[in-house]
Amino acid sequence: MRKQIAAANWKMNLTWAQGKKLLQDILAAGISLKDNQHAIFGVPSPYLTLADVVVREKSNYAVSAQNCYDKKSGAYTGEIAAEMLQSVGIKYCIVGHSERREYFNESNQMLAEKLNRCLENGITPIFCCGEPLPVREAGAQNSHVELQLKESLFHLSADQLKSIVIAYEPIWAIGTGKTASTEQAQEMHACVRAVLAEKYSASVADEISILYGGSVKANNAKELFSCPDVDGGLVGGASLVAADFITIIQSLK
Ligand code: PEP
Repeated sequence: MRKQIAAANWKMNLTWAQGKKLLQDILAAGISLKDNQHAIFGVPSPYLTLADVVVREKSNYAVSAQNCYDKKSGAYTGEIAAEMLQSVGIKYCIVGHSERREYFNESNQMLAEKLNRCLENGITPIFCCGEPLPVREAGAQNSHVELQLKESLFHLSADQLKSIVIAYEPIWAIGTGKTASTEQAQEMHACVRAVLAEKYSASVADEISILYGGSVKANNAKELFSCPDVDGGLVGGASLVAADFITIIQSLK
Protein backbone atom coordinates (compact mmCIF):
# COMPACT_ATOMS: atom_id res chain seq x y z
CA MET A 1 0.00 0.00 0.00
CA ARG A 2 1.36 3.43 -0.94
CA LYS A 3 2.31 5.91 1.78
CA GLN A 4 -0.39 8.54 2.30
CA ILE A 5 1.23 11.82 3.32
CA ALA A 6 0.12 15.18 4.66
CA ALA A 7 3.18 17.39 4.16
CA ALA A 8 3.27 20.93 5.52
CA ASN A 9 5.31 23.60 3.80
CA TRP A 10 5.71 26.51 6.19
CA LYS A 11 7.83 28.37 3.62
CA MET A 12 9.45 31.48 5.20
CA ASN A 13 6.80 31.93 7.87
CA LEU A 14 6.55 31.82 11.68
CA THR A 15 9.02 32.49 14.49
CA TRP A 16 10.21 29.41 16.33
CA ALA A 17 7.86 30.22 19.25
CA GLN A 18 4.93 30.23 16.83
CA GLY A 19 6.13 27.14 15.00
CA LYS A 20 6.70 25.18 18.20
CA LYS A 21 3.18 26.04 19.42
CA LEU A 22 1.75 25.00 16.05
CA LEU A 23 3.51 21.62 16.25
CA GLN A 24 2.46 21.12 19.86
CA ASP A 25 -1.16 21.98 19.08
CA ILE A 26 -1.19 19.52 16.18
CA LEU A 27 0.38 16.75 18.25
CA ALA A 28 -2.03 17.47 21.11
CA ALA A 29 -4.89 16.44 18.84
CA GLY A 30 -3.60 12.89 19.35
CA ILE A 31 -4.41 11.77 15.83
CA SER A 32 -3.50 8.12 15.53
CA LEU A 33 -1.98 7.57 12.14
CA LYS A 34 -2.32 4.24 10.39
CA ASP A 35 0.93 2.48 9.40
CA ASN A 36 0.82 3.93 5.88
CA GLN A 37 -0.11 7.48 6.96
CA HIS A 38 2.53 10.14 7.58
CA ALA A 39 2.52 13.77 8.70
CA ILE A 40 5.60 15.72 7.63
CA PHE A 41 6.52 19.28 8.53
CA GLY A 42 8.59 21.30 6.05
CA VAL A 43 10.01 23.86 8.43
CA PRO A 44 12.50 26.72 7.85
CA SER A 45 16.09 25.47 8.17
CA PRO A 46 16.92 27.13 11.52
CA TYR A 47 14.11 25.09 13.10
CA LEU A 48 14.93 21.68 11.65
CA THR A 49 16.51 20.08 14.71
CA LEU A 50 14.30 22.00 17.16
CA ALA A 51 11.19 20.77 15.35
CA ASP A 52 12.60 17.28 15.13
CA VAL A 53 12.91 17.16 18.93
CA VAL A 54 9.20 18.03 19.21
CA VAL A 55 7.89 15.42 16.75
CA ARG A 56 10.49 12.64 16.86
CA GLU A 57 8.79 10.52 19.56
CA LYS A 58 5.55 10.27 17.59
CA SER A 59 5.55 7.51 15.06
CA ASN A 60 4.93 8.54 11.47
CA TYR A 61 5.53 12.22 12.22
CA ALA A 62 8.70 13.73 10.73
CA VAL A 63 10.39 16.96 9.82
CA SER A 64 11.44 17.95 6.31
CA ALA A 65 13.88 20.50 4.96
CA GLN A 66 12.45 22.83 2.30
CA ASN A 67 15.57 22.75 0.14
CA CYS A 68 19.15 21.58 -0.11
CA TYR A 69 22.01 22.39 -2.47
CA ASP A 70 23.02 20.33 -5.49
CA LYS A 71 26.71 20.18 -4.54
CA LYS A 72 28.15 17.82 -1.94
CA SER A 73 30.11 20.43 0.04
CA GLY A 74 32.42 23.37 -0.45
CA ALA A 75 32.57 27.12 -0.79
CA TYR A 76 28.84 27.81 -1.17
CA THR A 77 28.16 30.29 1.60
CA GLY A 78 24.67 30.03 3.00
CA GLU A 79 23.77 26.76 1.31
CA ILE A 80 22.79 23.51 3.02
CA ALA A 81 24.15 20.14 1.90
CA ALA A 82 22.04 16.99 1.98
CA GLU A 83 24.80 15.37 4.02
CA MET A 84 24.35 18.07 6.67
CA LEU A 85 20.64 17.31 6.85
CA GLN A 86 21.39 13.61 7.16
CA SER A 87 23.97 14.29 9.88
CA VAL A 88 21.32 15.86 12.12
CA GLY A 89 18.73 13.16 11.47
CA ILE A 90 16.49 14.83 8.88
CA LYS A 91 14.75 12.27 6.69
CA TYR A 92 12.88 14.38 4.09
CA CYS A 93 13.65 17.33 1.84
CA ILE A 94 11.35 19.24 -0.53
CA VAL A 95 13.11 19.55 -3.90
CA GLY A 96 12.11 21.78 -6.79
CA HIS A 97 9.23 23.72 -5.28
CA SER A 98 7.90 26.11 -7.92
CA GLU A 99 8.99 29.07 -5.80
CA ARG A 100 12.57 27.77 -5.91
CA ARG A 101 12.30 27.18 -9.65
CA GLU A 102 10.94 30.68 -10.23
CA TYR A 103 12.89 32.88 -7.78
CA PHE A 104 16.15 30.91 -7.64
CA ASN A 105 16.26 29.70 -11.25
CA GLU A 106 16.39 26.02 -10.37
CA SER A 107 16.47 24.00 -13.56
CA ASN A 108 15.37 20.41 -14.11
CA GLN A 109 19.06 19.46 -14.42
CA MET A 110 19.98 21.11 -11.13
CA LEU A 111 17.06 19.35 -9.47
CA ALA A 112 18.29 16.01 -10.81
CA GLU A 113 21.53 16.67 -8.92
CA LYS A 114 19.66 17.66 -5.76
CA LEU A 115 17.78 14.36 -5.93
CA ASN A 116 21.12 12.55 -6.23
CA ARG A 117 22.45 14.33 -3.15
CA CYS A 118 19.34 13.45 -1.15
CA LEU A 119 19.35 9.81 -2.19
CA GLU A 120 23.08 9.41 -1.47
CA ASN A 121 22.31 10.53 2.05
CA GLY A 122 19.21 8.46 2.70
CA ILE A 123 16.90 11.47 2.54
CA THR A 124 13.52 11.09 0.88
CA PRO A 125 13.07 13.93 -1.58
CA ILE A 126 9.59 15.35 -2.06
CA PHE A 127 10.01 16.30 -5.71
CA CYS A 128 7.67 19.05 -6.92
CA CYS A 129 6.44 19.42 -10.47
CA GLY A 130 3.57 21.32 -12.07
CA GLU A 131 2.63 23.74 -14.78
CA PRO A 132 2.10 27.53 -14.79
CA LEU A 133 -1.23 29.03 -15.86
CA PRO A 134 -0.34 29.81 -19.51
CA VAL A 135 0.70 26.19 -20.02
CA ARG A 136 -2.58 24.95 -18.51
CA GLU A 137 -4.52 27.43 -20.66
CA ALA A 138 -2.74 26.10 -23.74
CA GLY A 139 -3.67 22.55 -22.71
CA ALA A 140 0.02 21.58 -22.59
CA GLN A 141 0.19 20.54 -18.92
CA ASN A 142 0.88 16.86 -19.61
CA SER A 143 3.92 17.46 -21.79
CA HIS A 144 5.20 20.19 -19.43
CA VAL A 145 5.12 17.87 -16.41
CA GLU A 146 6.42 14.93 -18.45
CA LEU A 147 9.52 16.95 -19.37
CA GLN A 148 10.09 17.89 -15.72
CA LEU A 149 9.92 14.22 -14.76
CA LYS A 150 12.13 13.07 -17.62
CA GLU A 151 14.86 15.65 -17.03
CA SER A 152 14.98 15.33 -13.26
CA LEU A 153 14.07 11.71 -12.53
CA PHE A 154 14.76 9.44 -15.45
CA HIS A 155 18.44 8.91 -14.61
CA LEU A 156 17.36 7.19 -11.37
CA SER A 157 17.21 3.42 -11.02
CA ALA A 158 13.83 1.87 -10.22
CA ASP A 159 14.95 1.33 -6.62
CA GLN A 160 16.01 4.97 -6.30
CA LEU A 161 12.74 6.13 -7.81
CA LYS A 162 10.86 4.11 -5.23
CA SER A 163 12.53 6.18 -2.51
CA ILE A 164 11.12 9.47 -3.70
CA VAL A 165 7.78 11.18 -3.21
CA ILE A 166 6.33 13.33 -5.99
CA ALA A 167 4.17 16.39 -5.42
CA TYR A 168 2.13 17.58 -8.38
CA GLU A 169 1.51 21.27 -7.79
CA PRO A 170 -0.16 23.30 -10.53
CA ILE A 171 1.46 26.71 -10.05
CA TRP A 172 -1.81 28.52 -10.74
CA ALA A 173 -3.26 26.84 -7.64
CA ILE A 174 -0.41 27.58 -5.21
CA GLY A 175 -1.35 30.25 -2.68
CA THR A 176 -4.12 31.51 -4.93
CA GLY A 177 -7.13 29.87 -3.28
CA LYS A 178 -7.85 28.25 -6.66
CA THR A 179 -7.75 24.49 -6.29
CA ALA A 180 -7.58 22.02 -9.12
CA SER A 181 -10.85 20.15 -9.37
CA THR A 182 -10.76 16.52 -8.31
CA GLU A 183 -11.00 15.60 -12.01
CA GLN A 184 -8.01 17.81 -12.90
CA ALA A 185 -5.98 16.45 -9.98
CA GLN A 186 -6.79 12.81 -10.72
CA GLU A 187 -6.09 13.28 -14.43
CA MET A 188 -2.64 14.76 -13.81
CA HIS A 189 -1.72 12.25 -11.12
CA ALA A 190 -2.70 9.43 -13.46
CA CYS A 191 -0.60 11.09 -16.16
CA VAL A 192 2.44 11.28 -13.83
CA ARG A 193 1.97 7.62 -12.93
CA ALA A 194 1.65 6.65 -16.61
CA VAL A 195 4.87 8.50 -17.48
CA LEU A 196 6.67 6.59 -14.70
CA ALA A 197 5.07 3.29 -15.73
CA GLU A 198 6.25 3.73 -19.29
CA LYS A 199 9.85 4.41 -18.28
CA TYR A 200 10.04 1.96 -15.36
CA SER A 201 7.07 -0.41 -14.96
CA ALA A 202 3.48 -0.29 -13.83
CA SER A 203 4.37 -1.95 -10.55
CA VAL A 204 7.16 0.56 -9.82
CA ALA A 205 4.85 3.47 -10.72
CA ASP A 206 2.17 2.03 -8.50
CA GLU A 207 4.47 2.26 -5.47
CA ILE A 208 5.20 5.98 -5.79
CA SER A 209 3.25 8.36 -3.56
CA ILE A 210 2.04 11.35 -5.54
CA LEU A 211 0.84 14.28 -3.44
CA TYR A 212 -1.36 17.08 -4.70
CA GLY A 213 -0.42 20.66 -3.81
CA GLY A 214 -2.25 23.90 -4.55
CA SER A 215 -4.66 25.46 -2.06
CA VAL A 216 -5.41 22.26 -0.20
CA LYS A 217 -7.67 23.37 2.65
CA ALA A 218 -9.53 21.72 5.51
CA ASN A 219 -12.72 21.78 3.45
CA ASN A 220 -11.38 20.21 0.24
CA ALA A 221 -8.69 17.79 1.45
CA LYS A 222 -10.98 14.79 1.87
CA GLU A 223 -12.37 15.09 -1.63
CA LEU A 224 -8.94 15.59 -3.24
CA PHE A 225 -7.37 12.74 -1.27
CA SER A 226 -10.21 10.41 -2.24
CA CYS A 227 -8.95 10.39 -5.87
CA PRO A 228 -7.37 7.00 -6.56
CA ASP A 229 -4.01 8.44 -7.65
CA VAL A 230 -3.81 11.21 -5.04
CA ASP A 231 -1.82 10.04 -2.03
CA GLY A 232 -2.14 13.10 0.18
CA GLY A 233 -1.09 16.72 -0.11
CA LEU A 234 1.71 19.25 0.09
CA VAL A 235 0.10 22.11 1.95
CA GLY A 236 1.25 25.72 2.30
CA GLY A 237 -1.17 28.25 3.80
CA ALA A 238 -3.46 25.80 5.57
CA SER A 239 -0.50 24.10 7.26
CA LEU A 240 0.05 27.23 9.35
CA VAL A 241 -3.25 26.82 11.19
CA ALA A 242 -3.34 23.92 13.65
CA ALA A 243 -7.05 23.12 13.33
CA ASP A 244 -6.85 23.15 9.53
CA PHE A 245 -3.77 20.95 9.28
CA ILE A 246 -5.27 18.54 11.84
CA THR A 247 -8.32 18.16 9.58
CA ILE A 248 -6.04 17.71 6.55
CA ILE A 249 -4.08 14.94 8.32
CA GLN A 250 -7.40 13.32 9.28
CA SER A 251 -8.45 13.43 5.62
CA LEU A 252 -5.74 10.99 4.54
CA LYS A 253 -7.00 7.71 3.12
C1 PEP B 1 2.83 24.93 -1.42
O1 PEP B 1 3.46 25.72 -0.76
O2 PEP B 1 3.42 23.97 -1.94
C2 PEP B 1 1.40 25.13 -1.58
C3 PEP B 1 0.73 24.25 -2.26
O3 PEP B 1 0.86 26.24 -1.01
P1 PEP B 1 -0.72 26.53 -0.77
O4 PEP B 1 -1.26 25.30 -0.07
O5 PEP B 1 -0.76 27.73 0.10
O6 PEP B 1 -1.35 26.71 -2.11
